[in-house]
This record gives sequence, C-alpha cells and structure tokens, in this order.
Amino acid sequence: MKEKRGFLEKIVVGVLALQGDVLEHRRALDLVGVKSKEVKVPSDLTSLDGLIIPGGESTTLSLLIELGGLFDVIGEKIAGGMPIFGTCAGLIMLSEEIIDGRSDQKSFEVFELSVRRNGYGRQLDSFEAPIELNGTSPPNFPGVFIRAPAVVSLGSKVEVLGKVVKDESPVLIRQGRILGATFHPELTDDLRVHELFISMIEEV
Ligand code: GLN
Repeated sequence: MKEKRGFLEKIVVGVLALQGDVLEHRRALDLVGVKSKEVKVPSDLTSLDGLIIPGGESTTLSLLIELGGLFDVIGEKIAGGMPIFGTCAGLIMLSEEIIDGRSDQKSFEVFELSVRRNGYGRQLDSFEAPIELNGTSPPNFPGVFIRAPAVVSLGSKVEVLGKVVKDESPVLIRQGRILGATFHPELTDDLRVHELFISMIEEV
C-alpha cells in the first residue's frame, strides 16, 4: 500500500486541454491520488507519464490539435510507448478509421478500430447504461454516454474490457498502452477506469 502511494505521488498525467471535459478528468485523477497537468502546447508534453484525451467534439479537437502543432509531438509520444487514454471524442482521435467523420477530420490512427461518430443514433443520443467491466456480473459500472461513438469493428490486437450488456457493444477497449472508452467515466464517482489507466502507467 505504501509502495503504491509512493508510485502515485511520483507520476504526472497530462490532460489535453484544448476543449471538452478537462476539469472532470483532472478531478478524477486527483481522487485517485495522481497529479495532473493541462496540455495546451507541445512543451507541456515533456516529462509526462501518460496522457488523457477528453471527450468533446472530435472535429473541433482535430482542428485544434492541428492548429496547436500537437499532432506530431503527441504521435511521437504514443509511438514511444507513453500510455494514452481517450474518452468519447478522445477515443475517436485515436482510432484508425472514423465513420461519419468530416472529410478534413484527422486522427492519430493508432487504435486498430473502426468507430462510427454518434453511433447510437438520434434517439439514443445520450443515455445511461450499466457496463460490465472485465466480465463482472452483474454489470455495475455507471456508463454515461453522450453522443457516443460506437465501435464497429476491432483489430486482433484489441482487447474488450467493458461491454454494455443489452447489445454486447464494446465500450472499454485496450490495445497495449492505449485505452479507450466510448463513455465518460470522469462524470461519475466510480474511479475504476482511471485506476486501470494508472495501472497501465505502472506497468511501463
Ligand atoms: N459526438 C462527438 C464527436 O463526434 C463525441 C461526443 C463526446 O465526446 N461526448 O466528436
């Protein structure tokens, strides 16, 4: 326990702070006991142990990342093995293929996934549904979905860590040091998903 606390005190997790629910992720990291830092310009990326790309609007995020000259630097960090966690629009920003995206929308193209923007359609625009984490039954993670992307197909390197039971859709996925959620764990008081990301940093 003491060792764990020592590790948590030593690390700093960046939260990309161009748009979206930045403060909520910082609050969750704070509750887990980890320091966080807003990332707005390339120099903010030095000496980070991990990075979170929050939800928001992926077309806007794409534009702001490009304008901020952050595509290459973040891409290099990911290629160098820095753990990264994308929620909702953040997950879209990591995916290899975006369906229903804007033609000028870009992504880091590192997650072997195809995602459909606003994939749950108009009627289910935003909804809450319990998530089954790691096959734990009954599903007990509070899933908050806001104009969420739907994972349409997965590559062989991708592990499914969480599903919404009603339609079996994968909502929490991992590929090595990349973690993605189609929902918003930072909007709940359940810290398990942020703790999982921190444990990925601990494995590095
Ligand atoms: N629908 C948004 C997009 O395409 C994502 C919504 C969200 O991040 N809550 O980027």
